[in-house]
Amino acid sequence: MAAEFETIVGIDLGTTNSVVSIVENGRPRVIGGFGESILPSIVGVDAQGGLLVGHPARNQLGLAPERTVRSIKRRMGEDCRIPLGKQEFTPQEISAVILRKLCQQAEADLKRPVKKAVITVPAFFKEVQREATRVAGELAGLEVVRIINEPTAAALAYNAEPDRAERLLVYDLGGGTFDVSLVQVEGGVVEVLASHGDTKLGGDDFDRLLLNKVCDQFQEEHGIDLRESPISHSRMLTAVEEAKKRLSFEGVTRLEEEFIAEKDGVALHVDMELHRGEFELLIQPLLQKTLTCVDKAIQDADLTTADIERVLLVGGSTRTPLVSELLEEQLGLPLRTDVDPDLCVAMGAAVQGALISGQDVSAVLVDITPHSLGVEVLGLVRGQYSPHHFARLIRRNSPLPITASDVFTTAVDGQKVAVMDVFQGENEDTRLNEKVGDFSLEGLADVAEGNEIQVKFTLDVDGVLHAIATERATGNEKQITIDNAIRRFQGQAGDEARDRLDRAFAASPELQSNASDAWDKNGLDTEESAVVGTMSATVSAPENPELAQLIDRAEEAIRLGRPLKSVAADEDAEELDQLLNRLQSAVDTRSEAKVKESLNELEDLIFYLQDA
Ligand code: ADP
Ligand code: MG
Repeated sequence: MAAEFETIVGIDLGTTNSVVSIVENGRPRVIGGFGESILPSIVGVDAQGGLLVGHPARNQLGLAPERTVRSIKRRMGEDCRIPLGKQEFTPQEISAVILRKLCQQAEADLKRPVKKAVITVPAFFKEVQREATRVAGELAGLEVVRIINEPTAAALAYNAEPDRAERLLVYDLGGGTFDVSLVQVEGGVVEVLASHGDTKLGGDDFDRLLLNKVCDQFQEEHGIDLRESPISHSRMLTAVEEAKKRLSFEGVTRLEEEFIAEKDGVALHVDMELHRGEFELLIQPLLQKTLTCVDKAIQDADLTTADIERVLLVGGSTRTPLVSELLEEQLGLPLRTDVDPDLCVAMGAAVQGALISGQDVSAVLVDITPHSLGVEVLGLVRGQYSPHHFARLIRRNSPLPITASDVFTTAVDGQKVAVMDVFQGENEDTRLNEKVGDFSLEGLADVAEGNEIQVKFTLDVDGVLHAIATERATGNEKQITIDNAIRRFQGQAGDEARDRLDRAFAASPELQSNASDAWDKNGLDTEESAVVGTMSATVSAPENPELAQLIDRAEEAIRLGRPLKSVAADEDAEELDQLLNRLQSAVDTRSEAKVKESLNELEDLIFYLQDA
């Protein structure tokens, strides 16, 4: 079929992954089927001297590092040669190999030649780096019709028909780099107002932290350091990255690698459970750094959060739920994740290409869930333990279909029944959300509190919710299907109901009073008990008022201590960081003795730092 318009593809030439997209019938489409649209930005030479790109190159990365190169984007613009086996290449040449591969994929898909492209670069790229990118395109046989900034592309993907001025914050957390930009969109023109970032922070760091944790544990058990052998190191790295990705959708995941090592003639396997909460503790300090960059970028643009209309999440690592949670908490602004964060930069580049070739382009539209979905558990509501904590499983604005799960625990010894009340809404207090259904998992094993129950939600494109609760120890399971779980309250009716409840809440002293809200364990009986408390976010253990107070104090100290990291001298900052982490994990595990110990130390250090 002859193209009506000139073919101009959009290319996201990423540090970790690259993607190519094209606008068809006014909408951007990413080229490549499921799982094939993302090309790892890795180039290698095989044993015979032939070139490898993408997955095959990635497969030999750990085994033949001398013949493989990754993250070449970091070296664009440098005058250097990268040895690959017996040959040498410039960074432009290596990037050209990636671009060539993407074009071949596009030509095979479109069944016509691809000669022109829009290529994206980070907003902080200097002129030499942009020029090197242009040269790479030419080496790949492409005419580079325009080089655009990645945040600009993201804004175009979200807002292809801009008819009013809007200011957006683009938060891009990829594999090896973090960027935050403030952009202004007006009449189809996107302007970057300020940009900040950290060129050495991304998902790779999360992988490394998780790898070290897992390998340390293995070493403790078996006396073998898996990081020492290139093969087991590379296998473990792949395995932890996959596990990390699963933790974005599951509260707990199993990491299994068979025959990873040998000791005294016996094969050793890795088989351990990873909890999202543990992973979040590891990466929290790094995410805190990104939040500092966000603040700086807002200041540099001379803006406040009130001037920003929306936040766009870009880059694969923004799938980590803690990213949205922290950002939402810090900015109090609506987050958009509905365009696939891995693909949105390439889509925006394609939109730019289409605009250049004179096409009309409409916004990227996807089905999203307008409300969050979750279950009612025991947990914190306005800082107090309450049986009405909303444990969110599926976040508002998630693209459909989506599956998410988390693990909760029973709250009392001998609890026989776990009642699952399913709610939708955005309030941490379920009484201010809408109930959409309920079911009970009965016949639980007669064990102490802390019996783990996994709850899994699948929301399909028609708004039908499948909810399953499983007692992990026994496999005992109960499920329900709720039709129209999201449509029923969609739009105005739902908003009105929420407003009404919010007003009712504000007017009701009883709802606001902490005393009436505080959770009394004695009120629970083993037949009827509601579950629980999430393992990753909050904890189910009953709490004494003294501990609750201590935890309040600890949380306040953590809040005060965090910003001091950026102003303290190096060794103080390190000590502070360690103390903050130690206290946070003591809080998470509700360990009174440990909270006390770390809290006193932290308070002293804060006092000293504030005084300095
Ligand atoms: P870049 O822009 O650097 O090329 P990407 O935007 O493609 O990078 O992001 C790649 C990173 O995203 C990798 O570290 C990868 O592990 C991470 N990632 C991808 N999917 C997920 C997920 N579901 N949860 C958490 N991290 C993810
Ligand atoms: Mg990127």
